[in-house]
Formats: sequence, C-alpha cells, structure tokens
Amino acid sequence: MPTSVFFGEEVLERYGDAIKQLGQRALVVTGRTSAVTSGAMNDFETVAKKLGLTWVVYNKVSANPTLDTVAEAVDIARKEKVDFVVGIGGGSPLDTAKAIALLTPNKAEAHELYLADLPEAPLPIATIPTTSGTGSEVTQYAVFTLPEKKIKKGFGDKRCFPQISWVDPRYTYTLPYDITVDTALDALTHSIEGYLNKNSTPVSDELALAGIFYFAKQKDNLLAGNFEPETRSELMYASTLGGMVIAQTRTTVLHSLGYPLTYSHDIPHGRANGLLLAAYLEFIKEEEPLRVNKILNTIGMNSLDELKLFINKLLPSTGEFSKEELERMAALTFSTAGSLAWTPRQASQSDLLEIYRKSL
Ligand code: ZN
Repeated sequence: MPTSVFFGEEVLERYGDAIKQLGQRALVVTGRTSAVTSGAMNDFETVAKKLGLTWVVYNKVSANPTLDTVAEAVDIARKEKVDFVVGIGGGSPLDTAKAIALLTPNKAEAHELYLADLPEAPLPIATIPTTSGTGSEVTQYAVFTLPEKKIKKGFGDKRCFPQISWVDPRYTYTLPYDITVDTALDALTHSIEGYLNKNSTPVSDELALAGIFYFAKQKDNLLAGNFEPETRSELMYASTLGGMVIAQTRTTVLHSLGYPLTYSHDIPHGRANGLLLAAYLEFIKEEEPLRVNKILNTIGMNSLDELKLFINKLLPSTGEFSKEELERMAALTFSTAGSLAWTPRQASQSDLLEIYRKSL
C-alpha cells in the first residue's frame, strides 16, 4: 500500500507541506458542500496559500457519480494544465479524482477507463476524506454508475493509489446520523469481506480484524448516536483499515449484491451492504465456519441472529420488494459480478436470490 497516510487531528496543518512534492497547480475535486462544511476545504486552502500553490475547484461530484462527471472534470484538468489532483469528500469525489488523474495525461475518453491499460502514468493524487466509509483514500479503486447498463462498476489500477492522504476525523464531526451509520457499515463490510476473501493474506487478516475490532468498540455509540471525538476517530480508523484490506483483497459478492439496491432503489452504498450482511454471512458460514465465527466474536456477538437484530435497530426499514425485482437483481448480479470468483463459497443465482430474499 504505497500511500503516505497522515492520520489524526489537524494533520493538514501539521503535515500539509508534503503536498509540495506533487506539483504547483492542483485540480480540487469535491461535492457541492461536504468539503466546505467539513472544514477540509478551508484547511487545504490555508496550506496551499502558504506554500504558494495555485488551484482550480471542480465541485460538481454527486453521490454515485457517472462518467459524464469525470469527462467534464477531465476537460477542466487539461485546459487548466494542472499538475495533480486533490479529492476532498466522501468516496465519490475521491474516486472521481482517481479517474481524472488517470485519463488526463492519457488523452483518453471517460468510457475508456474500463477498456485496457492506459499507457501514461496518472497525475499524482492526494485525498482528504470527509466520511468514514469507503477507505478510498488508501485504495487503487474507483466505482462509477453506468446508466446505459443500469449498473455500478469499479475499476482498479495500481498506479491510482493516492500518493498522500490526510485523514482527519474532525472532518466527520458534522456528518448526520444516517450517513455516519451507513458509512460505518461500509467500512465494516470492507474488513469482513477482506477477511473472508480468497485473496486474503496473513497481513490483510490482521488489518481486517483490527478494522472489525474498532467498529465493535464503537457499535453501541453508533446505535445511540453518541459521536464524541474518540468515536469519530475510531470509526475513521476502522474505515482506513478497511480500505487497506480491500486494496489487497478486493471485496466479495456482498458488495456486488449491494450495487443494484443503490442503483435502482437509491439505498446508500453502506446501508445496502449492511442490510444484506447477516444473510451473506449465513451463506458463507457453510464454507468458512471458523472465519465467520471469528468475525462474530470480534464484533462481540454470539450469533448471526444477534447481528441481524443489531443491524435492524441501526437501519430504517426498506419497504417491500416484489419477487420479480429480487429475481431481476439476483440475475443481474450473477451475470455481472467478477467478485464471485474470489467469494469464498461458490454461489449460484438461486443462492444470491436467497440472500436477497432473507434480507429484504
Ligand atoms: Zn464499499
């Protein structure tokens, strides 16, 4: 994991000088509000001014960004001749920053992200996360919505690891309850899916168990909405650990099952994973009983029923899904999910349907 991570309060103020090594002129990629309300934008500008850098801001990244957003920002990056890209925000701006950095020097169109290896190295990337969920600050991945295929699809390129990430839990202090919960569940599932993954290693296992441990330590505060600085800090640490895990292992079919819930039903990414988690673990347990039990022990729970009960308390109910819709999503996931190959138990289309059926 080649990213230099500065973690803790006021890391931009204390270690912002490191940005000088990336260049003189930046494209700052953010959503409409999060960079400003979190205070991250102000901290970035203070550091950049002090160092004499120049920058342009692209602040139109919405949740679940499309390649049109990427294309618009790439045009700006080329026109403004920026040296590097800074992503500030949740996973969407961070992922978008990676795609911009890769496409800009390659003179490639946005849809070519998925086609083949692009020969030119990406522009340097720096990230400043303002949520505790995706772990995108320490991964080589980015996920986009493809409206023409009605799916979300990720790409990964080893050259797209951020060079530097400043991970300051203060930027999450203003997050509302639902986003805090949804993103915490995303981080939890990254560690869980990494731990269960066919690509796992002894080192990724240690990081994964640590990520699950910090979620567990804060789970009662999460439920109660007690977001003291220590809770914010440990949820953010769990998120960065989860990112480090999936950078090694990738996720599994749980994430793939969640994507249609986000694409077609507007269920936020982490919430979608959380809703499906207990039934997914029940399915995996047949193949990996010891690992599933280790996960439950680390979360501090005795059974999958207890986990399901906890998640039901944490999340709002989803409403009804028709039988046809569950079948459609199972078929879509089964035919498009590359992650089936590194999910530890081989899943048929009816296995996937069963996970949806038990969860929704
Ligand atoms: Zn995720």
